[in-house]
Amino acid sequence: MAGGDDRIEVNGRAYRRPIRPTVVVCVDGFDPAYLEHGLRTGTVPALAEFHRVGFAARALAAVPTTTNPNNTSIVTGAPPSVHGVNGNFYLDRETGAEVMVTDARLLRCGTVLAAMSRAGVATAAITAKDKLRKMLGYGMRGVCFSSERAAHCTRAEHGIEDVERLVGRATPDPYSEDLSLFVLDAGIRLLERDRPELMYLSLSDLVQHAFPPGAPESDAFHRAVDERLGRLRALGATVAVVADHGMNDKATPAGDPNVVYVEDELAARFGPGAARVICPIADPFVRHHGALGSFVRVYARRIRDLGALASAIRGLPGVTGVLDADQVCEAYELPRDREADLAVFADRHTALGARREDHDLGGLVGRRLRSHGGLAEREVPLILSHPLAGEYAARALAAPLRNFDVLDLALNGVG
Ligand SMILES: [Zn+2]
Repeated sequence: MAGGDDRIEVNGRAYRRPIRPTVVVCVDGFDPAYLEHGLRTGTVPALAEFHRVGFAARALAAVPTTTNPNNTSIVTGAPPSVHGVNGNFYLDRETGAEVMVTDARLLRCGTVLAAMSRAGVATAAITAKDKLRKMLGYGMRGVCFSSERAAHCTRAEHGIEDVERLVGRATPDPYSEDLSLFVLDAGIRLLERDRPELMYLSLSDLVQHAFPPGAPESDAFHRAVDERLGRLRALGATVAVVADHGMNDKATPAGDPNVVYVEDELAARFGPGAARVICPIADPFVRHHGALGSFVRVYARRIRDLGALASAIRGLPGVTGVLDADQVCEAYELPRDREADLAVFADRHTALGARREDHDLGGLVGRRLRSHGGLAEREVPLILSHPLAGEYAARALAAPLRNFDVLDLALNGVG
């Protein structure tokens, strides 16, 4: 779909072919607090350099502030109302089944990565968790794999083989920070060896779920990420850094998870089976957050009176907003046909759950619950290694940026 000036049109936006290798890194769960702490303590020198010579701002993530909707937004350059992915986990209204999103079935549009690769731009996408791979790689020609399944890459399916040899170490444990560092190291090695023109590298938020800014573990992780960002820049790439969502402490002063189980509360008030609550943050890696975040969807069941359900939910501690489907789609650009009857938001330090029995908090023993999903995790850093050209710089400072503007800024805005 190359246009007259050789721009490539995707979802209503025209993207210029990369003028030099361009690497977009989604640092999963990179709350601005980690960045500020790193800049203050000098532990992220590459990011500090990008601030000095490039571009740095805050951007808004898509709602709910979870991994799949935001990674999808970033690679499509569009909100969930366009691409259709509104959670990691959803209820299929037709079958009544609760479905985990592990492929591109829900995706309603093409990605910038696919369009670029089909226009002849050498493109690569590497993700930490394999659940994102099929969505990120949808329609793409080129390299697309996850560090979780690095040992199993085939040229036919992933466009690459021998990834462990390329990176120089074995496939990481999915519950280690190396799941993310391996993604970055693979990107560095690919850039050195094959010089792809466009790369998307998506990390895991395991460390941010477990450790607050200033903890030795999160300092070490962000320092290691920063070193690799500096290396990508030194190899001649435009490096763009963004996040899918922030991260906040959601524990009581005593250290217990601060959770309101919305389905249990509704059952206590209206009787069993009143409503079903779905947590869109749920995924196969729940050990670190127990599938608890600050946003849930409520499907009316035995009780059909949405007004009564909404007012009961509004009275729960920590709940800051209850919107019906029309309201939440209007406010946050969500796909109307995939929205529940009610959307519920909690404050920064409150997590929402379904039924107590649905959530395994065993992995949290000895740790405070840190999670995301709500409006308090909407602000994320957006940083470029290079400055924006005049018109783009003015626009970026005038309007609230979205995290899914990052490809537009990196490809079109950097001179
Ligand atoms: Zn995430």
